[in-house]
Amino acid sequence: MNPDTTPYRSQALQYLESGLGYPIPSAYPFEKSPPLTGWTGRRGAMPSKAQVHQWMETHPDSNILLRLAPNVIGIDVDDYDDKHGVATRGRIGELHGMLPPTSWSTARKYPSGIYWFRLRIWMDTDKMRDPGEHVEVIRHEHRYAVVPPSWNPSARARYRWSDNAMPHVTELPYLPTEWYVHLNRGCSCFEEERAERRRLSMRLSNRAPGLVGVNQARRDIALAANALANTSEGSRNNMLSSIAGRFILYDVVINNVLSLDEVTGLMMAAAKHAGLDARETERTIQSAIEWATREGEMK
Ligand SMILES: [Zn+2]
Repeated sequence: MNPDTTPYRSQALQYLESGLGYPIPSAYPFEKSPPLTGWTGRRGAMPSKAQVHQWMETHPDSNILLRLAPNVIGIDVDDYDDKHGVATRGRIGELHGMLPPTSWSTARKYPSGIYWFRLRIWMDTDKMRDPGEHVEVIRHEHRYAVVPPSWNPSARARYRWSDNAMPHVTELPYLPTEWYVHLNRGCSCFEEERAERRRLSMRLSNRAPGLVGVNQARRDIALAANALANTSEGSRNNMLSSIAGRFILYDVVINNVLSLDEVTGLMMAAAKHAGLDARETERTIQSAIEWATREGEMK
């Protein structure tokens, strides 16, 4: 059996035995998504060995999408093109200690890749969040890992393991406790960010009446536009979506200090200045309007 043409059939059983997780076939050969439905996410079923055997017959050339075991997490660090997950991981490391060396898997160039850790029995992944730009947490309840020897169509390369060896779960180091606390956002280093968000919400929801409020709103939008221009390219559209949504919700829908036309006009100009694509900007602002209208009705 050639693993290059039959990733699922070649290694699905080894994954099941590794204790890392449950190998789900991609719905179509050599694709990263979607997985067969019903087998991932919080409510997904866990396949039996017999089921995996059956998929080896029916989906030999599927990629292996690994739904992680409850005691395993993958920290996915994207560091290619304009993605700088290695810097994000470094900043967390300065606060909480560096992650211990462990097995990694990737279809890109190291150090881009998924770093694998075992969890202590008391470590619960249910409320984990992504810790920063271009670093994602892959866990039992959320996402899956595309694993070797699957094919990555966008990287045009095969996934591989560090040292070319799939680890067994018992060989993985434990996730350090400080990182666990950080990933659960139970950590003091998020306090500043939380305080900043609270301050912004306070200002937005307590606009002064009349021209004072109008001028406040225009000043705040100018500050946000400036922040948008200084955001890294990969995050700009997310940032636009979040600021457009907030300003439309508070300044147009709730406090009525600016017109929708003015806010969307200012957002379009800010996005253009930041180098965002015009059609993507239109879509983003349209969905921000829809979001703000729904939220406004609930308040
Ligand atoms: Zn922290």
